[in-house]
Order: sequence, then C-alpha cells, then structure tokens
Amino acid sequence: MATMEQKPAGVHTTAKTKVFKNFIGGEWVESRTGRTFENLNPADTREVVGIFQKSGKEDVDHAIETAKQAFRKWRLVPAPRRAEMLYKASELLIARKEEYARDMTREMGKVIKETRGDVQEAIDCGYYTAGEGRRLFGPTVPSELPNKFAMAIRQPLGVCAMITPWNFPMAIPSWKLFPALVAGNTAVIKPAQDTPLSTLNFVKTLHDAGIPAGVVNIVTGFGGEIGTPMVEHPAVRAVSLTGSTAVGRIVGQEAAKTFKHCSLELGGKNPMIVLDDANLDLALEGALWGAFGTTGQRCTATSRIIIQKGVYKKFVDELVARAKKLKVGNGLDESVDMGPAVNSSQMETDLKYIKIGKDEGAKMLCGGHRLEGEAYNHGWFVAPTVFADVDPKMRIAQEEIFGPVVSIIPCDGLENAIEIANDIEYGLSSSIYTKDVNKAFTAMRDLYAGITYINAPTIGAEVHLPFGGTKATGNGHREGGIGAIDFYTEWKSVYVDYSDKLQRAQIDRPE
Ligand code: NAD
Repeated sequence: MATMEQKPAGVHTTAKTKVFKNFIGGEWVESRTGRTFENLNPADTREVVGIFQKSGKEDVDHAIETAKQAFRKWRLVPAPRRAEMLYKASELLIARKEEYARDMTREMGKVIKETRGDVQEAIDCGYYTAGEGRRLFGPTVPSELPNKFAMAIRQPLGVCAMITPWNFPMAIPSWKLFPALVAGNTAVIKPAQDTPLSTLNFVKTLHDAGIPAGVVNIVTGFGGEIGTPMVEHPAVRAVSLTGSTAVGRIVGQEAAKTFKHCSLELGGKNPMIVLDDANLDLALEGALWGAFGTTGQRCTATSRIIIQKGVYKKFVDELVARAKKLKVGNGLDESVDMGPAVNSSQMETDLKYIKIGKDEGAKMLCGGHRLEGEAYNHGWFVAPTVFADVDPKMRIAQEEIFGPVVSIIPCDGLENAIEIANDIEYGLSSSIYTKDVNKAFTAMRDLYAGITYINAPTIGAEVHLPFGGTKATGNGHREGGIGAIDFYTEWKSVYVDYSDKLQRAQIDRPE
C-alpha cells in the first residue's frame, strides 16, 4: 500500500478505479474530511486496488455516536439470535472465500493459500463464537442466607473501538468483532491503512448476514489521526488494539485515562528450539514455514531458531539450501511461496536490519537484498534472508523485524536454549522440536510465552484457545476462546431476597 503522497512513479488511477466509503449507521458514506487515499498492490504498485476514505475525528465521532444509539436496542436482542447472525456471516464468508482471498492478496501481498487461510480463520471464529451465544454462562451459587438467590450474569460494555493491523486483515477483525457482537456490544473498527478492503469485505458480510444498522461501523484512515480520537472518546467503553508495542504503549496510556477496558495484542520475537534428538526434516520444514510464511510478517513468525550444537551445521546448511529455493513473487500465482513486503517502509525496515546484522558480525548465508528483475521491479520484494552464528544479544536477535529475516543461534542444550528463548522483551509464541517427552514438558513449563508448540513452528493458532502473550506482547488479555468473551463483557452479581425481611449479609447468620 502507498498513499497519494508516497505514490511511486507510474501509478495511474483511472475512471474505473473503485472508490470505497466508510460504513456508518448501515450506509456507505464519504468521509466528512473530503480526503481519500489510494491502496496499492505491494507486488505491483502500478495497480491501484481502490480509493479509500481518509477519515478524520469528525467521522470517528459520527461513527461512535451511531454505535452508541444502536447499542440501546442491540443489547436487548437475545444472545442466541445475535449468534444466528454470526453463523449466517460464516456461511456467507464460505461462499465469498475465494473472492475475498484474492482481494487480500492484492492489497497486502501474502500468497493466495495464506489469504484463503485468513478468511477461513474468520469463518472458524464465526462458528465458534456463534456457539457462545447459547453459552454465556455465569455462576449461580447457593446464598449464605436462607430464601435468597445468588448469581452472576455477563453484561455487554457498550461501544467498543477496534484498531487492527494489516497482516491478518480479516482474521484479526473477526477475533474482535464476533465476540463483541455476540455479547451485545456495538463497534467502530479502524483497519490498518494498508488493508482497508479486507476489513470492509468483512463488515459488508456482517451487514449482509443481518447485523442491524449502526451495530458495526468502519472508518478507514491513518494511524493516530483517527486512532487517537477513537481511544479518547468518552462513549467508548472498550478499546482493542492489535499492533506494534510502540503503538500499544500510546493506546494503553490514553485508554487508562478514562478507565476503558483495554486489550493490547502486540509484537513478538518468537523462538524455535531444535534439540539434537529432533526429527530434523520436520524441524526444517517448520522453520521454513515459520520464518518465511507471510514474508515473516506475522506477530508469531519464527524469527529466532535456537539449535543444539550436535545438529547445528547440518540444520543451517539445509535451511539455507531450502531458503534459496523459495519462489518469491506475486502471491496470486499459486506456485509462489513468498510474497512482497506490505509497503516500502516495511521493506526499508527489513533492509535496515539486514545491514545491522552484518554490522554486528552475524554471518549472512543467503538473501540480504531487494530482489530485482521484471517480476520484482514494481513491488517491495526482499530475498529470504538467513543469519547464522547470531549472538542472542545482537539487535537482529532482540528486536522485531517483521520481515523475511531469521536469526540462527547455537545453544548447548535444553536449559541454555530456554534461557536464550526467554531473554527477550516479548513473549508471544515459542516452539521446541524434540522426541524426548521429558524435555518437551520442561519446555512447556519453562518457556515464558503465551503459546508453546511441540514439534511445530511458532505459527498455527486455532480460534478456540487463548491467543496473546506475556511481557511487552500485551497487557494480559487474551483473544480467542472464552477469554475474548471475558474481555467484551463485565460481570454483574445479582442477589434476589425472597424472605420478605431484611437479611444482613455477614451479620444475620442463621444458626
Ligand atoms: P502498527 O502498530 O503500526 O499499527 C496497528 C494499528 O494501529 C493500525 O491500524 C494503525 O493505523 C494504528 N495506529 C497507529 N498509530 C496509532 C496511534 N497513535 N493511535 C491509535 N492507533 C494507531 O502495527 P502494524 O504495522 O499495522 O502491524 C504490525 C505489528 O502488529 C507488529 O508489531 C506485530 O507483531 C503486531 N501484531 C500483533 C499481533 C498479536 O496478536 N500479538 C497480531 C498481528 C500483528
């Protein structure tokens, strides 16, 4: 994606280029700012995917006010009925899967089999969350007093503001919108400026599935320009951000000022441990997929591989050989393994870190440059890059790059590997390859991360288990599974006294 201002030479918007609007109160509306931006295909920036609204505070205020009004009715719709609309949305997504996957590849570059997976994740999340519509359980407990009934019920919060990144532009909005909606909340969502189309496609599907006007609203635009007014708005009761740790810090501090619920899902620098006894072929396959899937642009990407010395050389040689064979190109080509960086700035970040790695003295064994040639000249392509003999303290081993750059670190054994894995600012995902059950269980216990995989790479989360991380990866909340319902509801304890007399808790104790 690139904006008007950043537009590379050769881009032509034609009369045929589609203009997309914000969706507020059940209508497609232009931004009150009168401004727009272009969404470009990162594999070929001559293609304008669409023109989108460059919204401002006035659009945010409009959307939030609309969501606030809609909440009055939506909260009273029985949860099982709300859930039926989610179920219907999943059915519609199945029918539209190919179309939406292709749109997603065009706007963010990841290969078509992965964008199909992104839409599938939204489908899975819809089906799972629809089931929760009949399961919003709360505890009913015996009262300590006679003729008194005690229970707790879940209540929706009101308007939820959602701010999402570009790397999973339909799956991540679905993790936020589905649980918020089934619980009876209304929402305003702001997708990343690189991927507005996929989130618009998702919101359109929710509308087509019968979600009433005003319940879900989408405002497109840039970072803090519209993100900040969303987080500051007094009518917003919950903020959910998935993005970088730097933005999470800003959003978390702002949300705290008005005591909003705030869920932050942030960066990662995920380790894969490979021990001497591992199935090496399996580990190599996992490393390749974990490091270069989505062009390394996953919060859970395998960005550090910690290898025991007995298999170190063999593993490194083979990984480099396989990385060199990866086919890089336009993700719409089914035979392509890895697409471009999402935008020029991400590509520059990748190249900057490659230089840092070389300057730090890590051994660069393949890649390390922007790809050139007819197939690459109009896109943001970086070759899959492997650094070996990386010291765990180097910046390339500590900082999130978010590109196709993997750092290989030698280790002495399990204890040393876990120490290296944990010695990091982040704590999202982790993995270990070993055939030794004792070592696997030790790693499950001691890796300090929100997710641990055994004999699989650091990517591959399923929607019905908690998703999130420790330390600078977040603020303790989890998406996915029941944790998401916890975030989008608050408890109300209800006591019903049918004794017809004043019974004082803790004082009038029946003998
Ligand atoms: P980003 O932080 O730059 O942007 C995320 C969203 O925040 C975008 O919609 C952006 O427009 C908005 N934003 C930017 N500045 C803002 C501000 N001041 N106030 C409010 N909103 C603002 O992240 P990105 O580049 O879109 O995505 C990559 C990052 O997201 C990586 O760090 C990655 O690890 C992280 N991520 C985390 C998870 C997770 O679940 N933990 C999942 C995917 C991506």
